[in-house]
Amino acid sequence: MLNTKKILLVITGLLSIGAAGQQNPVSSDKTNPSKPNFIIIFADDMGYGDIGVYGHPTIKTPNLDRMAYKGQKWTNFYVAAPACTPSRAGLMTGRLPVRTGMSSGKRRVLFPDSKGGLPDKEITIASALKEAGYSTACIGKWHLGHLPQFLPSAHGFDYYYGIPYSNDMDRNRIGGRDDLEIILNPKIDYFNVPLMRNSEIIERPADQTTITKRYTQEAIKFINQNKNKPFFLYLANSKPHVPLFRSNDFVDKSLRGVYGDVIQEIDWSVGEILSALKRNNLDDNTLVVFTSDNGPWLFNEHGGSAGLLRGGKGGTYEGGMREPAILWWPGKLKPGVVMDMSTTMDLLPTFCSLANVTLPNDRIYDGYDISTSMFGKGPNPRDIVYYYRGTDVFAIREGAYKAHFVTQPEFGSKEKTFHNPPLLYNLNVDPSEKYNIAKKHPKVINEIKQVLKEHLKTVVPVENQLEKL
Ligand code: MG
Repeated sequence: MLNTKKILLVITGLLSIGAAGQQNPVSSDKTNPSKPNFIIIFADDMGYGDIGVYGHPTIKTPNLDRMAYKGQKWTNFYVAAPACTPSRAGLMTGRLPVRTGMSSGKRRVLFPDSKGGLPDKEITIASALKEAGYSTACIGKWHLGHLPQFLPSAHGFDYYYGIPYSNDMDRNRIGGRDDLEIILNPKIDYFNVPLMRNSEIIERPADQTTITKRYTQEAIKFINQNKNKPFFLYLANSKPHVPLFRSNDFVDKSLRGVYGDVIQEIDWSVGEILSALKRNNLDDNTLVVFTSDNGPWLFNEHGGSAGLLRGGKGGTYEGGMREPAILWWPGKLKPGVVMDMSTTMDLLPTFCSLANVTLPNDRIYDGYDISTSMFGKGPNPRDIVYYYRGTDVFAIREGAYKAHFVTQPEFGSKEKTFHNPPLLYNLNVDPSEKYNIAKKHPKVINEIKQVLKEHLKTVVPVENQLEKL
């Protein structure tokens, strides 16, 4: 006979999707045995084709490859925007950056002279999990506001170690050096970027040659310190964003040149993090997600590769926004390739679901709880991806089809091209977006136009944070 207690347990298990599958007898957290740890390892400007398991022929990434073989390699995983600041705002809040004021067509990211940042009314992954007793750390590049009221400590992070904006900012042009010279033959003091611990600047300019190593050491220290309580670690590498620097151990190690060296150091770092989890017996209670904030910066060999995808950073073709994404949780995730559509905005609701955290329902979330997909227990809730450039929708993907209403070269002064009918590609058949099939599919186009119309009704103008000076 099913007693009431048993029924209640079943219902609880259903409500917290995934929680039923993560009862962990060896969890070191005695008070919250069901709360898993979460780690997001972010790369900056790494493309879809830049690691071995996603097809790069000359960059060696044994740790990421192993992570993918033991975990899940997602092939239709997107970011919220094709540039650093809006992408990170989407990841942290589970909301499209247009809703938080963190996107702009005029200033596409925050700069050292910016006065804006992620508003304090926004709920981040860190602030949501902190409420549930998690320790939280942000290590690496933040880029959601460098003024005190916007720093990680104002957004739910107990600890911060890293640079507040991009590693190519605060350029020192003394001696008349031009930008290309500064980027292609970089020296530490060409970039007066601060390295911070919590709210203090501890080094300026940050020594970028050792920065990946130091992020890794800080991350491992945080893991060791928190092995007995649930934690969320956001490790946002500031590379392979140019200027490219790597530590001595990685100089001239890759056939791909300095860019390959940089990726191989990030790969080493991933290996160190996973080893630290194993050493602490945390590997079967920790979900690790590896991805990048946007596609490769296509300007010369110092930028990466989007593989078979078209375009790169800054643009709304696939190469700008579809990223490698590896999910790792030994014993919990069935290893394999997952072709379900997902985005970084799905991580907030998914983590909250796994940690039994209820999000307030006073705002629109653009992320979905994808734990059904991760655990192979049900259909994927996401069928639509919006491709925003600044505050405008340039393209929409629904199922296999993607319609481009507007296109524009990734960077530079070239104007927008408006398409009516929109360009239409079947991304399952044609992931490189080569063959416009709009003429054959007027019905699909009408449906996607309707999706756009309904979506725009949900977008309410807010104060723009990127244009505040
Ligand atoms: Mg970036």
